[in-house]
This record gives sequence, C-alpha cells and structure tokens, in this order.
Amino acid sequence: MEYKQCARCVMDNIGDSTIKFDDNGVCNYCSDALRAKNIVYHPNDTGKDYLEKVFGDLKRRRKDYKYDCMLGLSGGLDSSYAAYVAHTYGLRMLAVHVDDGLDAPVTTDNVKKICDAYGIDLVIENPDPILFGDLTCAFIRAGVPNIAIPQDNVLFACLYKYAKDNQIDCFLNGSNFALESILQRGNTYDASDKRHILAIWKRFGQMKDYANLPLMSVFEKRVFYGYIHKILTIKPLNYVEYNAQEAFNTLHKTCGFEYYGDKHCESIFTKIMQRYYLPKKFNVDKRKSHYSSMIISGQMTREDAIKRLGEQLYNPNEFSSDLDFVLGKIGMSKKEFNKVMHEEGHNHSEYPMSIINSILPIILDIRKRLTEY
Ligand SMILES: [Zn+2]
Repeated sequence: MEYKQCARCVMDNIGDSTIKFDDNGVCNYCSDALRAKNIVYHPNDTGKDYLEKVFGDLKRRRKDYKYDCMLGLSGGLDSSYAAYVAHTYGLRMLAVHVDDGLDAPVTTDNVKKICDAYGIDLVIENPDPILFGDLTCAFIRAGVPNIAIPQDNVLFACLYKYAKDNQIDCFLNGSNFALESILQRGNTYDASDKRHILAIWKRFGQMKDYANLPLMSVFEKRVFYGYIHKILTIKPLNYVEYNAQEAFNTLHKTCGFEYYGDKHCESIFTKIMQRYYLPKKFNVDKRKSHYSSMIISGQMTREDAIKRLGEQLYNPNEFSSDLDFVLGKIGMSKKEFNKVMHEEGHNHSEYPMSIINSILPIILDIRKRLTEY
C-alpha cells in the first residue's frame, strides 16, 4: 500500500483503513472537523454569553443544594482546565477522582492542588486493586485496542453513583473541540458497555467476584441517566479559547499545576497504551490525531507537528520503568505481556457487545443510506 499523509493535517493511512483523501490530498478527518468547527467551538463572545447563561441558570436552579454540578477529575489538562473555567463562574463543584493506582506521581498532587485552590470538594475512589488489575489484564489478553475501557467505565460508574447520592443532575465534561476534534476511527469502542467488559473479563480474567467492581451499562448511561434522571452535560472548553500551552500556564499560575507530559500521560497506564501498546500492536500513533486537532484549532503548524512526530515516541529507560510499574500493579508478568505483544490484535467486535451497541451501527447505516438517495 502506498503511504499517504494528508496535505493539511498529519493523519495518514498507516493503521487506518477508513481514511479517505480528496483530489487535493486532504483527508476526511480534517475536512469533517473544519465543517464542525463553527458549529461546536465558540471561543468568542457567543461562547462567553452561553456560559454566563447556562451557569447562571444552573446556579439559580441549584441554590438550595450543596453543589451546582460535578465533574470527573482525571488530573489531565482537559478536566483540570474545565474545573478552572467553571470556578471562574463561581460554580460549587463536587469532583470525583478514580485512583486506580496507575496515575503518574504528579497527577495525585495536581488533583489536590486544583481542588484546594478552586474550593472544589473532592472524592477519591479507590477501586479494588486486585479486581481492577485482573480486569485490565483480561483486556490486554483479549488483544483489543482500547485497553483503557475498564478505567473509563469505573470512572463513569463512580460519577453516576455520587451524582445520585448527592442529587446532582449536571456534569461538567472536559472533552473539547480544540484538542480532540480528530480521533482516528476503527480503534476505539464505547467504554460504557458492561456486557462487553464482563464477556472479556469472564473469558480472560481469573477473578469471579464481578459485582465488587463498580461498572455501568450502556442502558444505565443512555437510558436511565440520560432520559430518566435527565442529567445535563456541559462542555465548557468549547466556549472558551482553549490553547493547551496557555491553559497549562494558567493552571500553573493559579494552583501550582505541574506538567505531566503529552495528552493522556497523566496516567502511566494510558501512557504505555498510547506510546507502546497501540503503536506496536495496531500501528496507531495517537499523537497524529492530537496534533491534527491542534492544527485545526490553530495552535500548531503542520511543520511543527511533523517535526514532533519525528521525535522519539518513548525513551527506552522511561518505558522500562513505566512498564515494570504498571505490570506490578495489575499483576501480569513481563513474559506474558511480551507474548501478548507478539500476538495479532483483535477487534472489539469479535467479543460480545450490548444489544444497543450491536444494532446502533446498523440503524445509523440505514439512516445514512436513506438520506443519501
Ligand atoms: Zn487531514
């Protein structure tokens, strides 16, 4: 196959059979992102007016409660800056941080600094390390691309539990257009699929007490919390100028936030996944999506992105100590991990999925065909 890289961003056809290029050599990812930009990203007075209105309404509606909203605080830049933005509007927040034992050392400190400086109440959840480790090992043995699904699902489950306990019906979400408008397709899967998680756990794990780890299902997330509890989700970073370097400087200045490395490196586990597991097993380098998003939001040039992609993906000494740390925590031998790394990767669709997720792509495909003709 001939190598092709987009003429506008840095997405390419390595490890991606879905990418398409137009006659000018521009890819579908950045073309779609540019089309969506004016619809979802408002780093201007429109965005400011929107946040003033939506946060003002929220504060009035929640005046008799202890909290206006809650957020999952991973200690990464996105959720941390979302907390900062909401704090500047005077929101009273409850933050949930899931400490699965795999955070970078600086992350735990960053989470505490943010909450102390911005007056946010913090709950730290520690999932059972043996069960969590066993489930994570099961995902690695299954050889699927998104081995961070257990981590994400446990966070959702904890968030919704605290929302229910504290009668909170609004979530702040750090996902954003500026740094995430482009995400390579085909290598990810819905983290809220409990059926998928349990199927992989039962087949590849060793533990049997599945009920002792907080997990949530697609039904709970989409139907129970989305339609019955009507939880409102606000993404504040789409309504402010969100520049990664400036956001970090602001956090450093206002709460002493320390740098932890590139996107998702706030967790040693996701760092291993993005810098080693995905590139080696699936030919996927997540930096390409991240830098391409930054090109589209105007905070990186294509030349700079290409230069940074040429830099070493993982320092070998750092990788070795990170891997020892992660394998020690989840309880997998290096021999087994290396064996998995040499096996062929598998798609998430090779394992059972929730009925909702199984039929949704079919419905979307039919809808697409109907609207095309
Ligand atoms: Zn492109």
